[in-house]
Formats: sequence, C-alpha cells, structure tokens
Amino acid sequence: MSILYIVPTPIGNLEDITLRAVRILQEVDTIVCEDTRQTIKLLSHLKISKPLISFYTQNQLKRIPQIIAMLKDGKNVALVSDCGTPAISDPGYFLIKEALENNINVVPLPGPCALITAVIASGLPTDSFVFLGFLKRKPGKMRKELESAGQQKKTIIFYESPHRLLKTLEICKEVFGGNANVVLARELTKKFEEFVRGNLDQVTKNMQKREILGEFVVMIEAYEACFNS
Ligand code: SAM
Repeated sequence: MSILYIVPTPIGNLEDITLRAVRILQEVDTIVCEDTRQTIKLLSHLKISKPLISFYTQNQLKRIPQIIAMLKDGKNVALVSDCGTPAISDPGYFLIKEALENNINVVPLPGPCALITAVIASGLPTDSFVFLGFLKRKPGKMRKELESAGQQKKTIIFYESPHRLLKTLEICKEVFGGNANVVLARELTKKFEEFVRGNLDQVTKNMQKREILGEFVVMIEAYEACFNS
C-alpha cells in the first residue's frame, strides 16, 4: 500500500533535517513541493535527485487528483514545503484530507517548525498556546481575531511578514495594551537569529528605530496584561 509522507524541511539552517527525512526523500518515487527551485536547492545539498511536482495554493485543485492517482497507482510520495512543516501555514491540508478520504496511508515525520522553534525559547508560557498562522490582513478583522484569541488567556503565536510587522504591533497594542509581554523571534536557525523581548510599547519603539528585515514569529503573553477594560 502506497504512502503519503509529510516531511518537514529546514527553516534556515540546512543541518536541521532528520536522518529519517533524508532517507524518506531518497526512497520515495516523487516529491511534491511548493517552489521547485527551493526544493532543488535542498535536494542538491543532500545529493538527492527525484522527480518533483509543484504544489501551491493556486494549482492545488488541479494537482490533488493527479497526486492521488499516483498514490493509487502504488507510488510513494513525500510532501514538503519551502521550509518547515507542510500544512502549517503552507499548502498540504487539502491534499492530506483527500488522501485520507481515499484510504491512503498518511505518515507524518516530526521536524522543523518555526512556531515551535520560536515558542520553546521565548520565555513565555508554553503549557498552552494559540497559533493563529498569518493574521487576517484587514485591521478590523485582525483586531477581532486577536481579541478572540486573547480571551483564552494563553500565549498567542502568529507569523508575520517584515513589511507588516509595525502596523500589526500597533494593533496588538490597541488590543492587549502596551504592557503585554511580547517576543519577536527573527531569522530562526540562521546567521542573524535574534529574539527581541519586552512589552509591546518597548518592542514597537525598538523596531521603529531599525530596518525591519527577515522572517518573524510574533508571540504575545495574553495572560495578565491584556484587556485594559
Ligand atoms: N510551514 C512553516 C513552518 O511552520 O515552519 C511556515 C511557513 S509560512 C509560509 C512562512 C512564515 O513562517 C514566515 O513568514 C515566518 O513568519 C515564519 N518563519 C519561517 N521560517 C522562519 C525563520 N527561520 N525565522 C522566523 N520565522 C520563520
């Protein structure tokens, strides 16, 4: 019976790939990936040569039946994304759902994931947290999303792009107040890895003074400080 493997790949540092992930990438018939150029870089580093199928939000409806047909035909397939864990703020969910509905064996591998890497070193409570992926873009919707997550009084984690970071921090201040603790995890596992810690007022001021570059995970302690009302 064929298998759809879900294979996490590095979020920056190419050493962060498990021995099992390498073996699975070597053994499968085909690798389904987001941007083939990204995956070719990783595969050439690992000295693996495999047929690739591109799979991203815009082509997934067309691709899913093709991939399911391959699996039904007895081929083993590995699903990877550009970085980190597939299906976490990345394509994969619909393929995995469809595979399960077709009684295909889905095997997940543990591995790199930006949100987990960030929260374990954040110093914020890790016993329970809410992950929001990428927030809604419209300020009103974003505010509502944050307010509703904040009601749970757990560590809130989300992904954010560098060019939207400051605006988002301003909205977080409106929702949680300037005293709420925040941690920005920037460029995890890479040369310029950095954790910016403080309250929302301090961290926003700090970020206003500098050029904002790189990839970010934002974490907010929505326990005591939030909800001024
Ligand atoms: N599936 C991936 C995962 O969970 O690791 C996430 C993919 S999502 C398209 C990309 C976002 O993850 C980036 O915009 C950033 O917010 C976060 N991210 C990925 N790599 C990162 C890194 N090295 N440092 C900080 N954040 C990172």
